[in-house]
Amino acid sequence: MDCLFCKIVEGSIPSRKVYEDEYVYAFEDIQPQAPVHLLVVPKKHIASLNEAAPEDAELLGRVALAAQRVAREAGLGDSGYRVINNVGKDAGQVVFHIHFHVLGGEKLGPLNAKN
Ligand code: 5GP
Ligand code: ZN
Repeated sequence: MDCLFCKIVEGSIPSRKVYEDEYVYAFEDIQPQAPVHLLVVPKKHIASLNEAAPEDAELLGRVALAAQRVAREAGLGDSGYRVINNVGKDAGQVVFHIHFHVLGGEKLGPLNAKN
């Protein structure tokens, strides 16, 4: 599969891992948009939320809980953080392997910010 995040999950492209279990992989974003910027992905290739199916419900729950965990371990549990999932063109999705951004470490801009 010619997918950047599949290659990161399998280790053929290096990344700065912050968490891994049987289902989920989390790593530092290469171009951070906040003091803490992590990406949390299922190991299973799902192109975007548009391609998620009912049988992915438990897996997506695991991804959400992994986002909670890496945020807490990065020290964001009390200060707060934002979890973002871009879907498709208008949201600016660039990598078509579903991923959840975990952003924090500073006061974040309004949710409708265009960048
Ligand atoms: P998207 O715009 O698809 O929601 O986000 C893709 C994210 O992946 C971007 O924040 C970008 O900085 C990050 N990214 C792209 N290529 C790489 C890479 O090779 N390694 C890591 N760690 N992050 C990447
Ligand atoms: Zn993939």
